[in-house]
Amino acid sequence: MQKEIRQFSTINALMAGLFDGVFAVGDVKKYGDFGLGCSHALAGEVIIDQDFLEADGDKAVKVMGDKELLPFVQVTTFQPDKVVDVVDICKDNLYTHLSNYLPMDNVFVAVRINARFDELKIRRPHAQQKPYPSVVKVFEQQVVDTVEAVSGSLIGFWTPDFFKELSVAGFHLHFIDTTRKLGGHVIDFRAAKAELAFERKQSIEIALPQSEEYLRKNLNMDDLNQVIKQVEN
Ligand SMILES: [Zn+2]
Repeated sequence: MQKEIRQFSTINALMAGLFDGVFAVGDVKKYGDFGLGCSHALAGEVIIDQDFLEADGDKAVKVMGDKELLPFVQVTTFQPDKVVDVVDICKDNLYTHLSNYLPMDNVFVAVRINARFDELKIRRPHAQQKPYPSVVKVFEQQVVDTVEAVSGSLIGFWTPDFFKELSVAGFHLHFIDTTRKLGGHVIDFRAAKAELAFERKQSIEIALPQSEEYLRKNLNMDDLNQVIKQVEN
């Protein structure tokens, strides 16, 4: 099984407003069954946990069909290097927890945290209409839920800082509850105990969109870095 992360498009392309889905779920699936992304027109957050699940600001979580298109997604296989029981885990100390087991500043890490979360803050966007508003406007209107005592999994990646124009630097985690009714992009979380599983990923392959829109888009990062910070962290 492959150890690499396969990424479709880049975070700066997404932040620059390329919200149209261009990669079919059926094609992305070939590269693994673990990961995250977002759906066409930023309609929802995508959680890849065997199935491709879409958490939409307007609708319930649903399983995506192979023909549905994604603008940005990261997928891999997940065979954890280690699974450990941890106590008092939260977004702020996750780096400390993980760095007990591996030096991670210069590599990617696939991360899964299973727990009954004491508190979880997640967000889901609403589908956007063309002409698309800026990504900052989109996320100002997102649905933010703070839930307590919910069981489920956080699924995602740690990305080294020097990759910040391509992927989301730091931890990027999406949530899906055990009943698959609630999901979204994780803003904050806290659990008294949890099962933490991780797999170091030494390589990443990035497929760029082939669309005319992508080819002609100005992806100058001067202000996009600021936008990524604002939107993703
Ligand atoms: Zn996200």
